[in-house]
Amino acid sequence: MKVKIKKNDIVTVIKGNDFGKSGKVLRVFPKLRKVIVEKVNFVKRHSRPTQKVKQGGIIEKEAPISIANVMLICNKCGKKTKVKIGQYGDKRVRICKKCNEMIDESK
Ligand SMILES: [Zn+2]
Repeated sequence: MKVKIKKNDIVTVIKGNDFGKSGKVLRVFPKLRKVIVEKVNFVKRHSRPTQKVKQGGIIEKEAPISIANVMLICNKCGKKTKVKIGQYGDKRVRICKKCNEMIDESK
């Protein structure tokens, strides 16, 4: 199955601890079927002091979450939606199943 979520998409979490949160996709891991979403699934990590950061401590960082747990928010109708793949000229485009509009790729 092809991953239909791309970097810079806005997604909303539909499962798990972060249910209802939404944010921008920062990274996509197609092979793992995971994404990193801005401000979602924060995990605390202890960091040791390094040359650069003299003071170790706890840093919070987004951890990847399963693509199955997020849904794309259509940038045309603003609803969470599934996408289908369509053809526009010679380009493959994503189409919102709710409003049937082409979903723009945000840059
Ligand atoms: Zn739509």
